[in-house]
Amino acid sequence: MEVPVVEEGKELVKNEEFNVASITEVPASSSSSSSPVIGRFRFNNGVAELRFGEDSESNLLPHFDLRCTQLFKLSQVQSMCIQEASESNKEKTYSRGITIQFRNEEESRAFHCAFDQWKKEVVFQASHLPNGTVLASQSKFDSKIEASSAKMYFHYYGQLLHQQNMLQDYVRTGTYYAAVIENRADFFGRVVVDVGAGSGILSLFAAQAGAKHVYAVEASEMAEYARKLIAGNPILSQRITVIKGKVEEVELPEKADILISEPMGTLLVNERMLESYVIARDRFLVPNGKMFPAVGRIHMAPFSDEYLYIEIANKALFWQQQNYYGVNLTSLHGSAFQGYFSQPVVDAFDPRLLVAPAISHVINFTSIKEEELYDIDIPLKFVSSVGTRIHGLACWFDVLFNGSTVQRWLSTAPGSPTTHWYQLRCVLSQPIYVMPGQEITGRLHLAAHTAQSYTIHLTLSAKMWGPGAEQGGILQTSTGKLDLKEPYYRMSQPQVCPAAQDQQSQQLLQTQYGIHGLLGHDLSG
Ligand code: SAH
Repeated sequence: MEVPVVEEGKELVKNEEFNVASITEVPASSSSSSSPVIGRFRFNNGVAELRFGEDSESNLLPHFDLRCTQLFKLSQVQSMCIQEASESNKEKTYSRGITIQFRNEEESRAFHCAFDQWKKEVVFQASHLPNGTVLASQSKFDSKIEASSAKMYFHYYGQLLHQQNMLQDYVRTGTYYAAVIENRADFFGRVVVDVGAGSGILSLFAAQAGAKHVYAVEASEMAEYARKLIAGNPILSQRITVIKGKVEEVELPEKADILISEPMGTLLVNERMLESYVIARDRFLVPNGKMFPAVGRIHMAPFSDEYLYIEIANKALFWQQQNYYGVNLTSLHGSAFQGYFSQPVVDAFDPRLLVAPAISHVINFTSIKEEELYDIDIPLKFVSSVGTRIHGLACWFDVLFNGSTVQRWLSTAPGSPTTHWYQLRCVLSQPIYVMPGQEITGRLHLAAHTAQSYTIHLTLSAKMWGPGAEQGGILQTSTGKLDLKEPYYRMSQPQVCPAAQDQQSQQLLQTQYGIHGLLGHDLSG
């Protein structure tokens, strides 16, 4: 539900908007619009109201004070909205009324549902807030995410260039398209919710696959562009309703048979949108409804990359100058060094840099509890294929569209066609040395933070080797603390490696899909 939030006397107003086909003043007057118009529920100086048209047209088109307004259904797609004289506008001796023509039954239902919710909000305010302003209850989203982070986040997604970037990731969008169209049976005649619809592209795919109705929920200003894009596809637009708001807050007129969403961030979990996907599941999905995608996996393997390690360590060399315009900078070298290693590296790397078969952590979107995503603890155990220096942990992910006709994976693995997610590497400031066949243990701990991302704690350990190792079994342990919110976008091209290693590295990659085995090649040279 949309509620006003009052912060230190400042009211943050949230709107909820609906397209209607036309409105007609009763009796007919100039305050009518025979063309499509937007009906907007909003708080204006603490008063809930329903307005039609843009603010610039607000004097021409009617608006209603929800405290004294009633909505009646005339038919499946036509309703009447009447404002009666009330205590606050006693000087008016008339009631005003309009008939609203909706584009379809679903949109009429969604509008009525929102109207009822906003009326309830008025009643809540009237009974709890004698002066009309008090802290409203926060939504699940607002209570765990800093307002400044959310503001920047939705500003980012409100821009077409960023949506275009995702649309132009053809591996991503093409895999979604194929997964939907090949699994028509899962969409045909079904009610679909598009969680975080962005430009509305996945809603349009679902409508192409024959969905009965799609609710496209989008919190950012992109919702306006989604409306335009959808309206530009008239054969599909009749079956799509764009609802502007957070999935944690909006109300829908009916339950969904299937959810579709692209909630994946770097390392799968960045942006914390999986939590919104799970909340949408609990709020909107029928029991045993489908989710597209249904499963995500984080894959991890240790890597060796001397070039990357030196590149990062060298960034801090600046602070080793003892005479920078006569100033000794060295006291900050340690902090700068740690700072650079706290940035996870995002780029497409050559899979031949991996030194052990990958392991994976599975997240089942259909069953995981939202709270379980706040803290993700993954035990690590690898067997090194080579003798080398390990510089950290490489991570990537894939998601499964578990269609009833075709199962399809969207993969972001190194060596697979590159996506806009690339891969992620956590580089340790202290490399560890391993022998071929040696065990590497550790832990990847992801702790969610209020800026829509995670703090990463990485530990990798290996037994000492060489003289004396047999007696003591002393561990070399290396740890790192990184912020997933502050990655270093490196975007290098995959490095060229000798062709002889090609087949071996192919084998190494395949191990993530279950073919285990040790490799004999040495990447340390
Ligand atoms: N589905 C689109 C966009 C994916 S990007 C596509 O596949 O191209 C994720 C979108 O989800 C962004 O537009 C973002 O604004 C929106 N979003 C993120 N969290 C949301 C939330 N809690 N409620 C509604 N929309 C959200």
